[in-house]
Amino acid sequence: MEPIGKLALPLQSRNEAVLPFKKRPRSSEQVSELMLGTVGCFPHADLSEITASEWMTIWVSLAEKYGFARLKAAVNRLKFKLDFFPKPAEIQREIDVLIFEERDAAKANATKFVSCGKCSADGFICVNGNGDLWDGSSNEERFARECKCKADWRAERQ
Ligand SMILES: [Zn+2]
Repeated sequence: MEPIGKLALPLQSRNEAVLPFKKRPRSSEQVSELMLGTVGCFPHADLSEITASEWMTIWVSLAEKYGFARLKAAVNRLKFKLDFFPKPAEIQREIDVLIFEERDAAKANATKFVSCGKCSADGFICVNGNGDLWDGSSNEERFARECKCKADWRAERQ
């Protein structure tokens, strides 16, 4: 078993021999860089050359399936969570978590209040004591009132 440290350069230079995806050289190059960077974070990683090239194939297929940015984000998170070089199953789980979080954020975004433009960002307008729009130029007393758009937005979510 060769430690992966020795593998670092050969992996890079033998990309094409190791990786069966000449069609997407750019993505495999990125993945290769990511893997080498990750090896650097786990100096005690003891991957055999065979394991490394098999995992490389898996990493590339993860990048193709979920996007390189997600693979990279998942691997980078694992660098802070794991003591050992992440196994493919661990990366897959982290990608699942990422996707779950993305969906959550998208959902939160979709239900976020957006001002109608006449009120403040949080849905308030200024009115006078009669409930009419406050005239900024006068000295009349000013009250904050919820805008109709905010009330409508709240009603929609109940
Ligand atoms: Zn409004």
